[in-house]
Amino acid sequence: MKDKFGREITYLRVSVTDRCNLRCKYCMPLGGIEKKDHEDILSFEDTFRIIKESTKLGIKKIRFTGGEPLVRIGLANLIKDVSKLEGIEEITMTTNGILLSKHIKELKKAGLNRVNISLDTLKPERYKEITRGGDFNKVIEGIKLVEKYGLKPIKINVVFMKGFNDDEVKDFVQLTLENDIIIRFIELMPFGERHSWTKDKYISNSKVLEKLDNYEEVEYEKGSPSRYYKIKGAKGKIGLINPISRHFCNTCNRIRLTSDGKIKPCLHSDLEIDMKKYLDSNEKIYKGLVEAINLKPSKHHINEEGYDPIKRDMNRIGGWLWVIKN
Ligand code: SAM
Repeated sequence: MKDKFGREITYLRVSVTDRCNLRCKYCMPLGGIEKKDHEDILSFEDTFRIIKESTKLGIKKIRFTGGEPLVRIGLANLIKDVSKLEGIEEITMTTNGILLSKHIKELKKAGLNRVNISLDTLKPERYKEITRGGDFNKVIEGIKLVEKYGLKPIKINVVFMKGFNDDEVKDFVQLTLENDIIIRFIELMPFGERHSWTKDKYISNSKVLEKLDNYEEVEYEKGSPSRYYKIKGAKGKIGLINPISRHFCNTCNRIRLTSDGKIKPCLHSDLEIDMKKYLDSNEKIYKGLVEAINLKPSKHHINEEGYDPIKRDMNRIGGWLWVIKN
């Protein structure tokens, strides 16, 4: 289905939990978040019904996210059911990777096609600091297993932060020389309570390119708002995702389902459509999704003077604003 601005909506991001096993400084408060009651969280049955109705509107790609999606027990069963739906072309997941080694086998078997792993530093001590205690080696173990199980291409998402990891660009890029992986640098975005922290640490992705030599821009993922580059002769690629310095709302093809059953047509708007009130029939769910797509704003305003960050934090939404077409 096309929205009011002619954008074909083909991508649904599904947050299956607001809980996380890490406390990344730019994402989660130290004490964690106020946990939602069990009954507020959408059951897998209802999540599946919403996904199924969305396929009738042209959703082809599903990304599971969180919180940390792998802390929700039984996710592989949902993936298995979704993989059988007509119209679904790709099922992916964004994860911090800590629990990957435990689950990768069942996820692959269930029909998961690809994984994006969030890893903001290659230094174990720094990792521990930014995640407030995370075990770097667990993530590396997970990445190796994802490769072994052939869920390719592996994408590593690096939130680029001033004074934190802007000295590691070359180390990340080095990984692309010998490995067929994609390192994607992402600009830090302002959210909820951590707004002032992110403001201090924001740095434009143009600084990534300033640190590189011998690179060329390459065509990858047609229609994608991210730009891809490659060091000449390298096996892997470098992606730059610039929601702040170069927004791509005009090609945005996604909507989001939060773990408490709200559809967010735009990551940076407080607008939410409560799907819980539509759960008594599949026809109503379908209509709720049409309503959400019709309400999708033309663009976000995060880079405008006086922008007031949305109330929900990223951990309550599960991902980014940009879009990889299809
Ligand atoms: N727990 C999973 C993970 O770590 O990938 C999925 C949920 S997490 C909220 C999704 C992604 O959002 C992570 O890669 C995280 O780095 C990113 N993120 C969180 N807060 C952000 C912010 N303020 N700006 C940019 N990216 C952010």
